[in-house]
Amino acid sequence: MNITASALPRIFRCPLSAQLPQWPRTTKWAEFGTMVHLFRENVAKIGRDKALEKVPEEHRDHCAGIAEAALPTDMTPEVAFAYNPDSAKGRRLDTKGQRDYSSLEDGEYAGTADTVGLLEGGKGVLVEDLKTGWGWLPPIKQNEQLLFLAAAAVSAYGAEYAVIRILKMTDDTPRYYEHEVAAFDLDAFADDMSDLMFNIKAKDMQEREFSAHEGPWCKYCPAFESCPAKTSMVKALASPSADIAFDRSNAVEAYETLERAREALKRVEERIKEMVDEFGTITNDDGRTISWQETSTRRIKGDIAYTVMRDLYDEDAAKASATTVTKATQASIEKYLGKHCEKGTKAEAMRHVMAEIDARKGLSYSTSRKLKVKNG
Ligand code: SF4
Repeated sequence: MNITASALPRIFRCPLSAQLPQWPRTTKWAEFGTMVHLFRENVAKIGRDKALEKVPEEHRDHCAGIAEAALPTDMTPEVAFAYNPDSAKGRRLDTKGQRDYSSLEDGEYAGTADTVGLLEGGKGVLVEDLKTGWGWLPPIKQNEQLLFLAAAAVSAYGAEYAVIRILKMTDDTPRYYEHEVAAFDLDAFADDMSDLMFNIKAKDMQEREFSAHEGPWCKYCPAFESCPAKTSMVKALASPSADIAFDRSNAVEAYETLERAREALKRVEERIKEMVDEFGTITNDDGRTISWQETSTRRIKGDIAYTVMRDLYDEDAAKASATTVTKATQASIEKYLGKHCEKGTKAEAMRHVMAEIDARKGLSYSTSRKLKVKNG
């Protein structure tokens, strides 16, 4: 079980999610967030201009637009901590790279603060977490990720209190949410976390097993695909006897269920795609297979088809072939030629038209893929 600080808000609300098999996944937003974190870390080390040069081109404009106030020039970026909730002891963790927690000791958990600063000459410590996405967050006072980092930092630096801060950068204007936490609040957090981890690790799983507790924290849960609440919903919906009757009295609940089911189905589909990517063709016991099927599509550019038909025939032919300025179809061209060519000449006329469209760069090709189940 590899629990880190960023998972705590979910695990505190649904401990079951720490017991189930996990399939961590990354999204393009998570990759973007990692890149912004790296940029801010580099700003502190080598300055803004040099840090910008290291940002991949597609993200450079966004990073260049980050307000100076949101860059950690007087704070330390990317500080990793180890914290033992049983002893309420924290320490700075030596890392060999980003999120390297290999030097954890028994009973310790790890987390990385995006930025840390000392307040009042070390009496207090400021712990900041940067959020670049729109995902769910608990209220700042109950943000267990930040409480963990605050507890670890206060212990590691011998401080008396902490200020926890969320820096939201979902657009170009940074927004801050702050809360001051006293040492006794951090002690209470250590007790809560210690109890929770004891229960999660308890060997007697029959007695300690938690039930699924759904909420907005499910969205990025790495145990989503193995969660009984989600899989039972998918199975129930796929059942021919599914009870889908609803009326005005339960329309709200029905719609909420529908939204949760959509999310569940999306995650099931993503997981199946990942498995097919990993294993290629997957074969069932009964011989049925699932694999990717690729389809190539040829598109005719409407404006070019229009000019070709006008040059080879006339304005009416052009209008009949290009259904819009940007789109023409082989069928519409064939239909026109079928009506206007002499018997036996349509195929040759079609070849000539298509060759001319091709010569004027009026054809484009794309490939798409979808999953296909085949009988064995
Ligand atoms: S998907 Fe939601 S309910 Fe299921 S284990 Fe994860 S957090 Fe809990």
